Amino acid sequence: MKTVVLKFGGTSVGSIDRIKKVCKIIAFYKKKKNKVVVVSSAMSGVTNELVNKSKLISSNFDRAEYDALVSTGEQASCALIAGRLKHNGFKSRSWTSWQLPILTDGPHSSARISSVGIKELNIITGFQGVSNDFRITTIGRSGSDATAIMLAKFIKADECIIYTDVDGVYTTDPRQYKKAKKIKKIFYDEMLEMASLGSKVMQPTSVQDAKLNKIDIKVKSSFVSKSGTLITGSKKTFSNQIITGISSTKNDAKITIVGVKDRPGVAASIFRPLSKNLINVDMVVQNISQNGKETDLTFTIKSEDLKKTERLIKKNKSISYKKLSFDKDLSKVSIIGVGMITTPGITYRMFQALASKKINILVISTSEIKISVLISSKSVKKAVAVLHKEFKLD
Ligand code: ADP
Ligand code: ASP
Ligand code: MG
Repeated sequence: MKTVVLKFGGTSVGSIDRIKKVCKIIAFYKKKKNKVVVVSSAMSGVTNELVNKSKLISSNFDRAEYDALVSTGEQASCALIAGRLKHNGFKSRSWTSWQLPILTDGPHSSARISSVGIKELNIITGFQGVSNDFRITTIGRSGSDATAIMLAKFIKADECIIYTDVDGVYTTDPRQYKKAKKIKKIFYDEMLEMASLGSKVMQPTSVQDAKLNKIDIKVKSSFVSKSGTLITGSKKTFSNQIITGISSTKNDAKITIVGVKDRPGVAASIFRPLSKNLINVDMVVQNISQNGKETDLTFTIKSEDLKKTERLIKKNKSISYKKLSFDKDLSKVSIIGVGMITTPGITYRMFQALASKKINILVISTSEIKISVLISSKSVKKAVAVLHKEFKLD
């Protein structure tokens, strides 16, 4: 008997009709005599609605109550799925995190799953767990992906399938660029970079969990029956494509601190208050000091953190500088591929392609398997199209 974990995302369970459709997919696996464990997200839009309600109650809503609140969406969708399966004559029941329990470590809203109690597994709420002191936790937005993967690990499942609203992982977001191509097989590291750099089809933490625990993931559509994408570490029969995918972000902002007194520890002094206030700093560039005394420091954050960051820098008495400048409406466009490690000239080709469309690069960052550039959000579509063509992904 094979054990399969099936995870359904928000759009897949977004209406009563969709839930009935999902139950047909579950029935298909059950009829094949598989042991089926289902993880469901909340119906699409529900979690956002709950988050908005918390903001209306308080701009500083208690984190523990936030988790208790936003975790309710999954309880509803799982009960609806279990109820429909029973209606169709299948043995079924819904389980929420504390009933199993799915134990988590770490802070509210970004906890990590540490263990799963294996009782009778059936229809299980994604996105949430329970802490050692019996509070409900959540594991970060889009966290049901990670629930599915950690369940697959703890129950030693034979297969883990992420059902979503696209039929696999594409070379770039197929809703944004029509010539995007489905990828048959992708390495964990590439998927991790793509997810972290803006391809929201998989939650980054879940890919990290899959990589650490060597769990192959299949990404498939719950809307159409088509072959999907395999996310794996196995190197068998991979194509010799240099670039595997292109990702982009929205709503980035850039801050430049001009003429900062250059002394050991100055960067730490700037970033300490940001880190304390949970502001995520992404790209960082420090210019070489002109005269050994002053330097300029540029970094990027999410636009929604801009006001807070400005306040924290202005309040920071441990640094002195000449000027602060800000830029909004920026995006990071990245090319990703393990083929980059062994192929020279990729950086040049990327910059040349962007230059041919007169796209100005503001900040650059690289790793072994990705190159990212910060550009104006206005140019993202153009940039993705020219890079997709340049690296023969069209
Ligand atoms: P779910 O609700 O099933 O978790 P998500 O909205 O989280 O679904 O993820 C699916 C969406 O990811 C797709 O609708 C698609 O627009 C987007 N997406 C972004 N980048 C990619 C990519 N490279 N390949 C496929 N989908 C992508
Ligand atoms: N419902 C949660 C969210 O919207 C978790 C998930 O969908 O995976 O973030
Ligand atoms: Mg998702």
